[in-house]
Amino acid sequence: MLNSRDTWDRKIDYLRISITDRCNLRCQYCMPPEGIIQKSHDDILRYEDILQIVAVGTELGIKKIRITGGEPLVRLGVIEFVEKLNQIPGLVEISMTTNGILLAEYAQSLKKAGLSRVNISLDSLQKNRFEEITRRDNLDQVMVGIQAALKFGLSPVKVNMVVIGGINDDEIMDFVDLSRRYPIHVRFIEFMPLGRSNISHSEGFVSLNQVKEIICDNLHLIPIGVKGSGPAESYTFEGTKGTIGFIAPLSHNFCSKCNRLRLTADGRLRPCLDNNLEIDLHEQPGRIGDNDFIRNRFIDVLRLKPNHHSFLEEGNDISNRNMFQIGG
Ligand code: SAM
Ligand code: SF4
Repeated sequence: MLNSRDTWDRKIDYLRISITDRCNLRCQYCMPPEGIIQKSHDDILRYEDILQIVAVGTELGIKKIRITGGEPLVRLGVIEFVEKLNQIPGLVEISMTTNGILLAEYAQSLKKAGLSRVNISLDSLQKNRFEEITRRDNLDQVMVGIQAALKFGLSPVKVNMVVIGGINDDEIMDFVDLSRRYPIHVRFIEFMPLGRSNISHSEGFVSLNQVKEIICDNLHLIPIGVKGSGPAESYTFEGTKGTIGFIAPLSHNFCSKCNRLRLTADGRLRPCLDNNLEIDLHEQPGRIGDNDFIRNRFIDVLRLKPNHHSFLEEGNDISNRNMFQIGG
């Protein structure tokens, strides 16, 4: 196996794969104001292509995969894809980030196909507000989806809330309460300036230091450190079934421990969420390269991986892609 260390000697063993840029929600901060131009099916990697890319990635040290999107569960054939992914030697974990709407339908088959766990994105527990943020009325399905994930053992079940000032920052304690009542790991995430959004970053950004202060005013948090190689700083508190965590890419950047690359649905490897660096895996339009070609592109992207993101630096070249196009 080749050693997948980047220029900064970080071990890169985690690949996030966006399998589609389509979505059944239209979150205000993730989709641009003018709506989205969907890519044609021909521009999106076939499952066979993704499996080939992952197989090459594992030779270079990729061990963990997260399937994301857009909304991964809207792409047809996702269960069979997970099954095939699960047969690739060298992978130790396959997880998924989803908005949860289709989880009630798919949780059991996903578990059976080999998915280990899910992160469910949820920014409000209030019906009207959920609809305002996502432009769709699906909160009930998401809540049933969370229960299905728990029931079928896609654990640990994590619920990710992006905290946005003036939008949902009054619900922080409600999310803490969700983790008290269920064995759920609620993680508060800082809003990042990516692509074009309906919500201004300068108005919506809330530092997680503030979020932690609000929680600490209400209860005593007991640190349990950083779990695994993930970026979340985790805590427990008395009487809780779950835990809470903080992912603060802006106020406490965790770039020195970054272990990931991203594969976009249209076949580009990205070394970082920030900026516009990406490497095309196509050798010709519509056709990705052979294994040697892909292997060399992985090596190129490891070289390109920046030491740290530059979200807050003056003159930073903000990503031209929104999160639904990169894969969160
Ligand atoms: N549709 C799936 C979902 O929502 O979980 C997967 C893709 S979505 C792009 C992945 C994650 O990115 C979601 O948790 C979403 O909240 C997060 N996200 C999108 N735009 C973001 C931003 N500007 N800052 C922080 N998180 C963002
Ligand atoms: Fe869709 Fe996820 Fe983006 Fe919301 S955050 S619009 S669910 S891709």
